[in-house]
Amino acid sequence: MNHAYKINKIRSFVEQNKHQVNLISNKLLIINLQELKKSAYHLFYELIKLKHVQQAQSHHQIIDLFNLIKNTTEVLSLEMKLLDKLEHWWLEWYFALQMHEQLSAESKEMPMSFLSRSTLNPMRKHEISHYAKLFSVLPMPVCNVCSKTGDILRVNQRFVDVFGYTVEDVPNLHAWWKKAYPDPHYRVQAQNLWSEALKKAKSSNDDIPANNYTVARSDGTQVVMEVSGIKIGEEFLAVFKDATERIEAEDILRDMAFLDSLTKIANRRRFDEKLAHEFDKAKECEGAISLIIIDVDFFKQFNDRYGHLAGDSCLYEVAQTIASTVNRPEDFVARYGGEEFVVLLPDTDKEGALFIAEQIQKAVEALAIVHEDTYSGFLSVSMGVNSTASSQDDKVSFVKGADNALYYAKDQGRNCIALHSES
Ligand code: GH3
Ligand code: MG
Ligand code: MG
Repeated sequence: MNHAYKINKIRSFVEQNKHQVNLISNKLLIINLQELKKSAYHLFYELIKLKHVQQAQSHHQIIDLFNLIKNTTEVLSLEMKLLDKLEHWWLEWYFALQMHEQLSAESKEMPMSFLSRSTLNPMRKHEISHYAKLFSVLPMPVCNVCSKTGDILRVNQRFVDVFGYTVEDVPNLHAWWKKAYPDPHYRVQAQNLWSEALKKAKSSNDDIPANNYTVARSDGTQVVMEVSGIKIGEEFLAVFKDATERIEAEDILRDMAFLDSLTKIANRRRFDEKLAHEFDKAKECEGAISLIIIDVDFFKQFNDRYGHLAGDSCLYEVAQTIASTVNRPEDFVARYGGEEFVVLLPDTDKEGALFIAEQIQKAVEALAIVHEDTYSGFLSVSMGVNSTASSQDDKVSFVKGADNALYYAKDQGRNCIALHSES
């Protein structure tokens, strides 16, 4: 069948059918859409033979064909619109046909890992081809499950790539739960979460809502997945979205919200949170907890003499120095405000806290930042320390105790450490 023949056929189709269409504000109005579509489909089947599709010709042949007609004929705008419509339909049908061909070819040789036999139930051709295409091209893992039997009917290639399980490895939900959730405790938790989601879906007659699950891959590594489900009759599609990146981004945002932008250490908000948590913990275990409040001496004069920018970089240096002096992972350093910093030391008594305070004092001295308005000629800090056995204390008076000690240290002439005492 040569090109000229096809062109003539399409031209005469347009000629015969143009009475069925109208142009209203440059839009094509089709009087009898179903009829027109049907005859367009017949022509498509006559001209675009299946063997062309099997030869894996691209849809460009259709585009080229229509371009040729549009360019070689004096086509009026109405006919042009009709040709556009025809081309649009043909491309759609071509796509469906191609998918169907691919699917039939693949299903003959497709490994069971990819497609289980039960999937090959009768569906309308175009439905199954679109579905297969969607299923295989989805960039996230998807699996198709029978709600009644719990059989995993089908998984897409992405599923196999991401988790390392084929349908043979996880033929049903029972196997899936066991393999993907090897820790029995976590498995129960995950199953409860999933049951809750199913209940919600049932009560709202909606899709299965998304939750995060930590899934074990076949190689033993884990990945956090946001799993949701789409119900399709007696079956559902479980859709997996890698949540690692999102969780990381959330962590970064969270860190940013708790980070002091100037000094790059934790801010006051984070300290308040941390204090509440650690203080309650200490109370519960009747353990010691210590707090050091650090205030830069004569900092107003520093700004006045060296400028605000120099003041800023000085605060950064001091903050970083304090942070690097405190080494245990459970210890916590934050900017309390202005030129004040706090160090929270869980499981630390007053001797331990005094030792850390001395280390900080030495480290700031070692920075040797010139400050001509102090007695030594270098920048110094004053510190107030409070330690509590915590049973009778509350966190407000705990902080106040350290603050009072700081005032005392300032009173003593600065560049010194004072310990809060009960009396
Ligand atoms: P003292 O020895 O009693 O602590 O005296 P001081 O001057 O350090 O205390 P005061 O509270 O009077 O002044 C604190 C100064 O810290 C005032 C303010 O300009 C400065 N400051 C607070 N935050 C910042 C900041 O982010 N950058 C800079 N450059 N200066 C700051
Ligand atoms: Mg101050
Ligand atoms: Mg100060």
